[in-house]
Amino acid sequence: MTSSSVPSVKLLINGEFVESRTQQWRDVVNPATQEVLARVPFATQDEMNAAVAAAQEAFKTWRKTPIGARARIFLKYQQLIRENMKELAALLTAEQGKTLPDAEGDVFRGLEVVEHAANIGTLQMGELANNVANGVDTYTLLQPIGVCAGITPFNFPAMIPLWMFPMAIACGNTFVLKPSEQDPLVTMRLVELALEAGIPKGVLNVIHGGVDAVNLICDHPDIKAVSFVGSTKVGTHVYNRASLNGKRAQCMMGAKNHAIVLPDANKQQTLNNLLGASFGAAGQRCMALPVVILVGEAQNWLPDLVEKAKTLKVNAGIEPGTDIGPVVSCSALDRISGLIATGIEEGAKLVLDGRNPKVPGYEDGNFVGPTIFSGVTTEMTIYREEIFGPVLCVVNAASLDEAIAFINANPNGNGTALFTRSGAAARHFQEEIDVGQVGINVPIPVPVPLFSFSGSRASKLGDLGPYGKQVVLFYTQTKTITQRWFDEDDVGGAVNTTITL
Ligand code: NAD
Repeated sequence: MTSSSVPSVKLLINGEFVESRTQQWRDVVNPATQEVLARVPFATQDEMNAAVAAAQEAFKTWRKTPIGARARIFLKYQQLIRENMKELAALLTAEQGKTLPDAEGDVFRGLEVVEHAANIGTLQMGELANNVANGVDTYTLLQPIGVCAGITPFNFPAMIPLWMFPMAIACGNTFVLKPSEQDPLVTMRLVELALEAGIPKGVLNVIHGGVDAVNLICDHPDIKAVSFVGSTKVGTHVYNRASLNGKRAQCMMGAKNHAIVLPDANKQQTLNNLLGASFGAAGQRCMALPVVILVGEAQNWLPDLVEKAKTLKVNAGIEPGTDIGPVVSCSALDRISGLIATGIEEGAKLVLDGRNPKVPGYEDGNFVGPTIFSGVTTEMTIYREEIFGPVLCVVNAASLDEAIAFINANPNGNGTALFTRSGAAARHFQEEIDVGQVGINVPIPVPVPLFSFSGSRASKLGDLGPYGKQVVLFYTQTKTITQRWFDEDDVGGAVNTTITL
């Protein structure tokens, strides 16, 4: 197909899916085949302003819509997502590359947030203190703040948009979403289903683009809050620019997550968990485990780890039995291959080389097989940079405390995991580790939406995390009412100029 004959991705403005008038387009490409699936516009300033204006107008009525009416939309929405799960996963795999079961997981972890949004009635309740002074009560209202915006990355094109707009809208806000330009198709299908579930026109809007779209979101005076998930470089820019403009901002960013393996851990379970978390989704998860620290005798497990890694099947995500699909783009493949070469140059030992795997039928795909380096030090580029590919760095430590100090010295704080059978070691780890999301024999401890995503340190800017209780505070303004009522016959006493109530 020529570039002009592939389907174009639409903008969503005021309830209508519209063709952009822009001259600037980008292809959405299947990373297993290089087939062009669609082309995505970089929306014009007028189109983006129209999306914000629609959201601003819709806020006038949506903010007053009863809780039950808001909640019921998300009840219906979760049902529609379930009914369309297979189609959503297939779209996701086609444009992003991950395996079909993993794509269903991507949709499912977002679906959980939609289910949670259907509980908004109990989540958005204020507090009341009776008789804070004579005849005086104080209570709080958690009121929506207005137009909110979300900027999302390529690696979870279903889950991460679903972290954002359902909770923002359930709280009574309206929303402008800017999906990743690399894989917007599954996001757009989820948006269509959201409208089918009953989200009124203007309440959810979608713009597409890159730097200009992101900067418009950061600058537009009618946008009150910005949720961002993506790299540290872009997230820091978004946080600074949006904050300078007086907006709330929450930015979940890059990571370098470490696992510690103690020699008393269940060996086979631990090796399976490490491989799944290091190489699943081709290492393109912000909660992947790209660094493992083997403590003491566990250092002898490296040959078994390598042997097991060799059994993982590299293939297109749609092929049954695939463990590792392609990475998202040719440029990602070049970057990862370059970092592997740098690792060798800088003296790390390449104990498993996954470069240039043979994948019959998918010779043009962006494949990298499982790759393992041992003897990695903190000065090496492969340790300092987020590789975001199926590359595992193995480090040795003599004790749990040495391993904890190693992790705490890394600037990132997204996730970490400890493998052990010792409750005392686990508790010590939980107390001493300076990372926001901790797994004990759980490799990817992404919290369910009863809690909030709680990355920390350089992996996050802003106080409040996505979904769960924290995001209700992020997407609402607390208004505190202090009230007293006078009886008809209360004639009042002397004027009181002191500060008491
Ligand atoms: P990215 O930062 O390149 O892109 C994220 C968003 O920013 C996209 O919508 C993109 O269009 C936009 N963008 C890209 N470059 C920009 C620029 N120069 N100026 C303004 N906007 C720009 O991230 P990505 O490659 O799509 O995603 C991978 C990154 O996201 C990794 O670093 C990963 O760790 C991180 N991530 C973090 C979390 C988390 O919760 N901490 C979750 C998922 C992904």
